[in-house]
Amino acid sequence: MENYNIDEIRSDFPILERQVWGKPLVYLDNTATSMTPRCVVDAIENVYYHHKANVHRGVHTLSQEATDMQETTRERVRQFINARSTEEIIFTRGTTEAINLVAASYGQLLENGDEIIVTTMEHHANIVPWQLLGRNKRIILRVVPINADGEIDRIAYSSLFNDRTKLVAMCHVSNVLGTVNPIKELIAEAHQNGVPVLIDGAQAVSHIKVDVQDLDADFYAFSAHKMYGPTGIGVLYGKKYLLEMMPPYQGGGEMIGTVSFNNTTWADLPFKFEAGTPDFVGIAALRQAIDYMESIGVERIAAHEHDLLQYATEQMMTIPGMRIFGTSASKCAVISFLVGNAHHYDMGMLLDKLGIAVRTGHHCAQPLMHSLGIEGTVRASFAAYNTRQEIDAFIAALRRVAAMLQ
Ligand code: PMP
Repeated sequence: MENYNIDEIRSDFPILERQVWGKPLVYLDNTATSMTPRCVVDAIENVYYHHKANVHRGVHTLSQEATDMQETTRERVRQFINARSTEEIIFTRGTTEAINLVAASYGQLLENGDEIIVTTMEHHANIVPWQLLGRNKRIILRVVPINADGEIDRIAYSSLFNDRTKLVAMCHVSNVLGTVNPIKELIAEAHQNGVPVLIDGAQAVSHIKVDVQDLDADFYAFSAHKMYGPTGIGVLYGKKYLLEMMPPYQGGGEMIGTVSFNNTTWADLPFKFEAGTPDFVGIAALRQAIDYMESIGVERIAAHEHDLLQYATEQMMTIPGMRIFGTSASKCAVISFLVGNAHHYDMGMLLDKLGIAVRTGHHCAQPLMHSLGIEGTVRASFAAYNTRQEIDAFIAALRRVAAMLQ
């Protein structure tokens, strides 16, 4: 792609210089986690070496600096997804915790017999929290099927709404199929039925420019480690009116107004949902990750990845016995596949010996695997720093491995 300085981008990621089994590392497991550029690691080091103090607790200079860093990131995240206010940005440990927060808190507002719509392509993080709700009351999950290309069945989706439907919870982008769901339209349809929507954006934010106001999402969850950021940090965006009506998720320091043994009141948003000491070091560094991505441009990264997706898909299709799961025209750079009768695990092990890091297994989407009639796949996924040469190495290794296992 023109003006896409891949060498410069790669030089920002020291880990890409690594070798594995004596071969240059070809890292194609970006859906699981993306690598971290030097500027983000430097930001972490900077807090530890120069500004470490607990946030929102001290009048002393270091504490104020650390607090400023955390709250500057909150404003940066607000801009990044175009939320109305920083009150709508809650820091969590990741997408999983963000969804669990909504399930545990919004879930308390649900009643016996209420229904939640999810899709067949959900990650376990967007299934199990809703099932846990069913420990105390009967909550029914309605599941939207998918078609042969791995796209949501829109007619089935429309037919699932009724007056017991209290939430739609679905992914923006599937971590297995790569499908980009038409969430703006799906959210609008849910709203016509008076139902709020939670979007699992774990696989979207580093590939698609997200504007929560334009999408009109009610909740939007994502993880920093999948967007070139630190581990252990995530974000829950929630519309203020919903967050205000929801009870706290966890109790402890930071989330209170006043505490007495008879009557405790809650802090204002967003702190009501942030009990205890947050990972303020990681939060500070999340700002660098967003700055880094935006300095290249999310759309430009996506165009680069799309070129790799097409390049790899075309070559893979020439391998005898190749089956690719997820063939939507609207697709992110994720390729899940099987070859003939070769076991996905064996393929992954052998590819690793050739320096190629891919994912194998059910990808935390067992219901999707069941619907596809398989146990697992091999999955290759691409990021800003992957190259056509790496795809060539991957395809050559794949041909060798596939031939060995036939
Ligand atoms: N949802 C999707 C679609 C994902 O791909 C993932 C991570 N694989 C998650 C949720 C969970 O993210 P995390 O483990 O960072 O909480």
